[in-house]
Amino acid sequence: MNKSFNLSDWVRPNIQELSAYTSARDQYSQGVLLDANELGLGPALSQPTSHTKQLHRYPDPYQRALRSAIADLRGVDADQVFTGNGSDEAIDLLIRIFCEPAKHHILVTPPTYGMYKVSARIHNVSVDEAPLNSDLSLDVDQTLAKIHPDTRIIFLCSPNNPTGNTLDSKAIEQVVEQFSGIVVVDEAYIDFSEQQSLSHLLSSYPNLVILQTLSKSFGLAGIRLGIALASAEIIAYFDKIKPPYNINALSAQVALEAVLQPELMQQKVQQILEERAYVQSRIERLQALLIQNPSPVLATHIQKIYPSEANFLLVRFEQALAIQKALAEKGVIVRYRGNELHCADTLRISIGNRMENNAFFESLIEVLGWDGPARKEIWEQLDLQKASVADSEQASGFEQTSNSEQASVSEQVSGFEQPSDSEQSSPRTARIERQTSETSILIELNLDGTGQHNISTGLAFFDHMLEQIARHGLIDLNISCTGDLHIDEHHTIEDVGIALGQALSMAFGDKRGIERYGFVLPMDEAQATVALDLSGRPYLVFETEFSRNYVGDLPTDMIEHFFYSLAMHMKATLQISARASNDHHKIEACFKGLARTLKQAVEHNPRIAGQIPSSKGQL
Ligand code: PMP
Repeated sequence: MNKSFNLSDWVRPNIQELSAYTSARDQYSQGVLLDANELGLGPALSQPTSHTKQLHRYPDPYQRALRSAIADLRGVDADQVFTGNGSDEAIDLLIRIFCEPAKHHILVTPPTYGMYKVSARIHNVSVDEAPLNSDLSLDVDQTLAKIHPDTRIIFLCSPNNPTGNTLDSKAIEQVVEQFSGIVVVDEAYIDFSEQQSLSHLLSSYPNLVILQTLSKSFGLAGIRLGIALASAEIIAYFDKIKPPYNINALSAQVALEAVLQPELMQQKVQQILEERAYVQSRIERLQALLIQNPSPVLATHIQKIYPSEANFLLVRFEQALAIQKALAEKGVIVRYRGNELHCADTLRISIGNRMENNAFFESLIEVLGWDGPARKEIWEQLDLQKASVADSEQASGFEQTSNSEQASVSEQVSGFEQPSDSEQSSPRTARIERQTSETSILIELNLDGTGQHNISTGLAFFDHMLEQIARHGLIDLNISCTGDLHIDEHHTIEDVGIALGQALSMAFGDKRGIERYGFVLPMDEAQATVALDLSGRPYLVFETEFSRNYVGDLPTDMIEHFFYSLAMHMKATLQISARASNDHHKIEACFKGLARTLKQAVEHNPRIAGQIPSSKGQL
């Protein structure tokens, strides 16, 4: 136990002497508030909601309700909790409180989180290093040996970023006990770990500071809410020097809501742990497969999967940097950590939802470039499995409203603006989940979107064409398809056509007030004429020929088949004719033409609002 700690020996004298800024809301937060030059008329928003109507007031500078909820959750007193704009703010404030620029040092244990060093350097504070052992454990003797009279703070990270392992709690305690300055234990990932938080040591060690965050296990990185737990005296220094209203009212509200329901966080953590096991087992299978079946394009092997107690895995690949870049070109972003000590050739892979995790493996298999039977074998051995419907709903925030043929229409489409036109009886959005033994497809769309899209079918040229539908049709469109591409492209293209047709048909709803017909005019040398009638009577006329068998990875004989599948399931008459000297242009003109006609046909016309545009009274 550290008994000899005297805080005033460690806090910079100017901070001790500082008279803190006192803000208007320090003393009064209720009454007729004419003390803070706020706008008494309320926020200049058209329709203030319960969340926004008080936003003309400055927030509570100390987020008392939130801190008290955090204290209850973490088993400390409310005056032992500081809330910051991310734990990055807490790191920055720690250096300001304890380190004299151009004089004092901090000590870090590489490989570790980079912000300790960056924050110190911003303040012109030197950084000493006591590397972790090669097995990534804390080298207590070396860490203590690196301490000198100007060492003020030791930063330890457990579970550690980027390696994912925890540091032994007894080893940490030895450092806390033997160093008379400040020891910070960053527990950003603690909820994913089997190890207990060290917050119970706070009552024994007045020099201990624990950092936590809502960015990881609570899934709230966007609100920027970090936490420091420490003695009430240290917390008072945080509060003395922080910007007066460092946490905005919206973030505080959302954070409070989350902290009061920790069981939701625990459920998400459980799901991520299952996903981590899923990803890890597939990486292990790939590791074995690469030995029997070397990649034809990249001389790579998986050399190590670092045991993780966090929501990421660190994996050592030969050629890690080349793999990271190739994955990024396919839209899958992982972090290269090969420049960190003990982490040569590593990629840090965050654990995503099942669709994202599968997308990682699909892209990785493409990057590794197996063909023919080898590719088929890899696919079979990896055994990528779709998420259960419940999981994917949870991941995307969708709610199901009805079911047909394993498909569902969604009322609540995450990230998609709902149409504002009050004439529209229901939102023109759809969600289709379609599974067969050949393909697994998820489509989300919003006819009244702006063209946002996220499309991944495993066929790059097909993706590029489907993007045209989103962009030129102003349709928000997410398509994710995992298909049996090791056999060929047929099922993927056909089934995306079917599912997209179904999704469009659902989103059309009863077609009241829409234009119904669409057509486009020729475009430059690539002339595509596309005519559409949302008639309810499926029909395709497709008049064009291709001189090449493939454009990119898309077989040209599948183009007509795609439009056929789409027209049948969209229940529309679709007529396309195209000519161009170049097949790429020809196909692109067909997709863009389709997008434009679709945009015209689904357009709401206020002059026929509420009417079915057919003399039959139904379409
Ligand atoms: N500590 C560690 C170990 C981290 O990995 C991160 C973010 N990656 C942070 C702190 C910062 O988190 P926050 O979002 O709370 O600023």
